[in-house]
Amino acid sequence: MKNYFFFNKIKGFPYYYYNDSFIIRYFEDVIKNIMISYNYNEIFMPFFDKVGLYKSSLGEVTDIVEKQMFVIPGYKVNDNVCLRPEGTVSCIKLVLSSGLLRGYNQKKFWYFGPMFRRENTQLGRNRQFIQFGVEIFGINNYSAEIESILVVSRLLKCLNLNDKVLLEINFIGDSCDRFRYKRILFKYFIKYIFLFNMNCKRRLYFNPTRILDDKDSVLYDIILQSPKVYDFLDSKKKCDFFLFLNKLSYLKINYYINYYLFRGLDYYDYIVYEWTFFFRGVKQSICAGGRYDGLLRCVSNNDIYGTGFAVGIDRLLILFKENCSLIKKSLDAYLICFGNFSINLRFEISEIIRKKNPFLSLEVDFYLGGYKKQFSNANKSGARFVIIIGDYELINSCLKIKYLKKKENQIYISFLNLGDI
Ligand code: ATP
Ligand code: MG
Repeated sequence: MKNYFFFNKIKGFPYYYYNDSFIIRYFEDVIKNIMISYNYNEIFMPFFDKVGLYKSSLGEVTDIVEKQMFVIPGYKVNDNVCLRPEGTVSCIKLVLSSGLLRGYNQKKFWYFGPMFRRENTQLGRNRQFIQFGVEIFGINNYSAEIESILVVSRLLKCLNLNDKVLLEINFIGDSCDRFRYKRILFKYFIKYIFLFNMNCKRRLYFNPTRILDDKDSVLYDIILQSPKVYDFLDSKKKCDFFLFLNKLSYLKINYYINYYLFRGLDYYDYIVYEWTFFFRGVKQSICAGGRYDGLLRCVSNNDIYGTGFAVGIDRLLILFKENCSLIKKSLDAYLICFGNFSINLRFEISEIIRKKNPFLSLEVDFYLGGYKKQFSNANKSGARFVIIIGDYELINSCLKIKYLKKKENQIYISFLNLGDI
């Protein structure tokens, strides 16, 4: 019995093909060139890592650790591995375990690849999604954040999307500031506990800043009236934040201070930011990042610093298709043959054509039907012109070319002039 059931697509695990895959490759090319121009090093990371690595770094009360990891059980408890839900932690593991931070301390890396989270799937929220990420190590001033923001701005400008998104920024202090702030938040939110669902109640007791990240509209006004972490920072930190924002203004980068922006992971410190856009009335984050010095302090004896961001490529695709158009270049030529000699030699001929015209896209007809059938295949392929080879053309060492979209007569090109196609 044939079983078609397993051949249905699984929700949240998208296929990208035709124009979508073409656009994603285009993003990759743009990103690659930007990364070369800013001197970042590309890394390829494993798709799996120990569950403990993520639990100890991202925080136990985070969406990812609580419910989103795809875990594969090992033989012992500590052997459990999972599909990588994000890239920063794996990148930190690389720099620490390979001694990459020894010597010259300014180290900049980037990655591009799939991440996996067991999410409730909806448009722009998949279980397998692609991220482009950047991590900068060794810098304890805001130059690293400035360059990170410049990199994302450049990417958005190259894609003509810079005025379609909003850069939101906040300064969340260090772990001591947040410890004090969490107690103040707790006192504030406990008054509204009758409005909270079970999840928010749990967050209130374990980490009330996570409530600020809640997307439930019931709490919207309550969150907007809640105390701001900014009000509890010392004057040095406030001044740093002000200088950072000033620098952005000098660089003509538009931003909005969102005092309630708290990234959903425990490891962020000081400056955090997010680029957002509205799609069909729903706010989506397209890129998010920040500093994670506190995390590095917990996992290394040395004073090392780190900051980074990740762009969601699936969401970038949605935003791009909504605002811009990039159509895959159509096929240039379709080669058809008739007569035994030319049929036998069609691959040799097509190889010569490709060698002489490296930028020409050429499709060879595989069906080998009659002339009419092959010509109709050429028309359906969408090619600009058809290359016809019969015995006459072989004897005279030439190709017959017929344009399919222009009203031009057919022309003959000698094999010696193939570079002119
Ligand atoms: P969100 O608040 O939308 O859940 P997040 O805070 O979990 O985002 P990060 O972990 O910071 O996101 O990841 C950085 C970027 O990766 C996001 O800004 C988004 O563009 C993208 N991203 C995150 N989760 C998904 C997903 N499930 N599907 C598609 N893209 C995603
Ligand atoms: Mg999330």
